[in-house]
Order: sequence, then C-alpha cells, then structure tokens
Amino acid sequence: MRFETAALHGAQVIEQDTLSRAIPIHRTTAYLFKSTEHAANLFSLKEMGNIYTRIGNPTQNILEERIAMLEGGAAALALASGTSAIFYSIINICEAGDEVVAANNLYGGTYSQFDSILPQLGIKVHLVDPTDPENFQKAITEKTKALYCETIGNPGLTMTDIEAVGKIAQANNLPLIVDSTFTPPCIFRPLEHGANIVIHSLTKWIGGHGTVIGGIVTDGGTFDWTDPKFTLFNTPDTSYHGLRYAHDLGEMNTIAFALRMRLVPLRNLGACISPDNCWAFLQGIETLSLRMERHSANGLAVAKFLDKHDQVDWVNYPGLEKGNNYKTASHYLKNGFGGMIAFGVKGGRDGGKNVIESLKLISHLANVGDAKSLAIHPASTTHSQLSTKQLQESGISDSMIRLSVGIEHIDDIVADLEQALKKVES
Ligand SMILES: *Cc1c(COP(=O)(O)O)cnc(C)c1O
Repeated sequence: MRFETAALHGAQVIEQDTLSRAIPIHRTTAYLFKSTEHAANLFSLKEMGNIYTRIGNPTQNILEERIAMLEGGAAALALASGTSAIFYSIINICEAGDEVVAANNLYGGTYSQFDSILPQLGIKVHLVDPTDPENFQKAITEKTKALYCETIGNPGLTMTDIEAVGKIAQANNLPLIVDSTFTPPCIFRPLEHGANIVIHSLTKWIGGHGTVIGGIVTDGGTFDWTDPKFTLFNTPDTSYHGLRYAHDLGEMNTIAFALRMRLVPLRNLGACISPDNCWAFLQGIETLSLRMERHSANGLAVAKFLDKHDQVDWVNYPGLEKGNNYKTASHYLKNGFGGMIAFGVKGGRDGGKNVIESLKLISHLANVGDAKSLAIHPASTTHSQLSTKQLQESGISDSMIRLSVGIEHIDDIVADLEQALKKVES
C-alpha cells in the first residue's frame, strides 16, 4: 500500500463479529483471560495479547501499527503526549550518570525537560548548535548514550542535516532520536535518513484539528542494543523475570527499544493514551497527506507574500529560496515544506504586538498544526519574562511572530495578514 492508502487502511483487520467498517473504540480497562495458562503466557510474553489498557489497547494497537507503517519503522508506542514520548525515549536508554547530546534549537518544553529536569535525575544533556553537525561529535563523551534533534528547529525553522548527524551517531554506535513533529511522515521519514527512533507530538499535524493531546515513538528496529554500554538492555531486569531486552526477546529483539518502553516506563510510570484519543488520531491520519499538501502550499504562498511586504523585516520559511537552510530543506523535503513560518515586523516589540492583536481570522494561541491558522508573538507571551538581550540570545527577536499556516483559502489568510500589517504602518 502506498502512503495515502495505508493512511486509510493500514493495520486494520475488520472485526468478524461486528463487521464494523470504521475502527472501533475499545473503551475497556481490562480483558478476560481464557485460562490461567493464557494469563501466565501473556504475563511472560510467551504470547502477545491484551491485559490492561495502561499497557495497550486494540484501538491503540492500530494507531501504533499504522504510524509504524507510514514512518517505515518496525514498531511504535503511543503515549499520553509528545512530552511523555520524549521523556520515555530518554529514560528508556539513560540512567543517572549517562549523557545525551542534543540540538539547542528545541521545542520549549523539550528544552526545559533537557535543561532542568533530566539533570535532576542525573542525566546530563549537552546542548549544541546543530547547524554544524560536527558539534554533535565534539560533545560526545564515553558517557553519551544518545543523540537527539528535531527535523525543523525553533525559532529559526532551520532544517537539521539528519544524514550528517546520523553518520556521527552510527560512527559512535549511538542511537539517533529525531523529533519529527514539524515534518509528518508524508513529507519526511527520518528513519530513511539515518535516524533510529522517531518521535511525534500527535497533537499537531497528525491529529490536525487542535482537539487532542498525544505522542508516539517509532522504533526503526535498526539499532543493535547489545553493546554492554547500554546497561538497561544488557543487564537482567529484576522487575521483569530477569529479562535482558537486547538478548532474550527472540524474534522481537529487533523491537527491543519499543517493547522495553512499553514494559518498563509505560507500564510502571503510566503516561498511557486513552482509546478515544487514539481514535481521534486515526481519524486525523486519514486526511494527513491531503492536509499537508494544503499546509505546505499555503505556507509557501504566505512566506512569499510576507517576504515582499514593506512592513516585514525578515521571513524564515524552509521553502523560501535563500541561504543554507533552503539547501538542506530542499534536499530532504520533496513533498512540501510544511506550514510553519517565523517573521519579524517593523516596529519592534510593539509592532509584533499590534499585528497579533489585529488578526481576525488567524487565532492568537499557543499551538501549532491545527487545520486553522494560528499565530503567537513569543516576546509578549511564551518568552515575555526575557529582556531584549536574553531574547536575542535565544534567537527570538522582539518583533518576531510565529505562524502555523492552516488550510483555509489562501486569499483569506493573506487578507487577514494584510489588514493586520496595515495597522503597523499607521
Ligand atoms: C508540541 C510539541 C511537543 C510536545 O508535544 P505535546 O503533545 O504538546 O506534549 C514536542 N515537540 C515539538 C516539536 C512540538 O511541537
């Protein structure tokens, strides 16, 4: 099945008792055992099946298998949020004393998690400028257990050279974890370019309608965890029958990462996704490629409009034909550049504020990836506590506006921006 077809049919087996065409929501906490032997087999992984919805659910299974198909991975695990997907990916590999080398242009929540919470657990994260992939190599020590980056980073919307970072990961026998939220699998599949693990906040374009929170981790099945430096995969797990995840899973050894994340962090820390939210994400996936075509077409048109506008100082969009970012982005993004734009208006902090407050169609809020167009002025909201100097150090200018371009008619989006930018002129 090609992408568009798998998005509608992948991983669903029609239930023979109900013949339900749509994917049913299995709103149940637990599942009957056929016998004590059946129960024992499920608990010891001799047989795979449903036990308790914190660990898995049939609606969730379809979401996970469908995303794994679309991403070109071996297995996936859906979680309560993109944030928990990121946290579990790290603690599924790292213990106290371990290190991660990560790009410094991360989503704000991830930045805080890496910069202030992981250190509380004894996990140190070296944050490096990803525009030169060699910076990852320079920060690797014998304690490093993973490399981490986003496909398109904040706030410059620069595309990371995933292949270059992947080569460094491979040369050091480290897994590369990529947050690909800004580039859904119909426009980019990091596993085909050297990533081993891919994370999505399902909340954004995959859900696509600004209605549900969720995250997913796809295991490429390509990383060999048998190197003893990956202690969590090589020493017997006393909480799980003495299992060594890199060795004792038989034919499931290739998905050791995804399986361990289900059996350890998910089972015992519990950030599970609800079956209802899984259903909503499956609904979003059905139209993902259609929506991304429109997000990308509108994104490019809005970027070009802003680029020519007198009241606009600068525009960042990976699809604007200028600079190194376009070179990297156009190498990887053959099916569109997505809907994220950052731009600076004339008139500093007040200019940015005026434009945001004058928007009528475009919603002023903190989210991205909705079918509706969204905007935020970081200097007066998410980053309002920072001084102009601190903003500059984070690569955010006073007047910067971040747009998540939706799938409305392009003329209506442009008209809204036009009337808001006029307010700054006067
Ligand atoms: C939103 C987002 C997250 C966090 O996901 P939640 O589902 O909100 O927890 C992580 N990374 C990126 C790039 C995001 O846009």
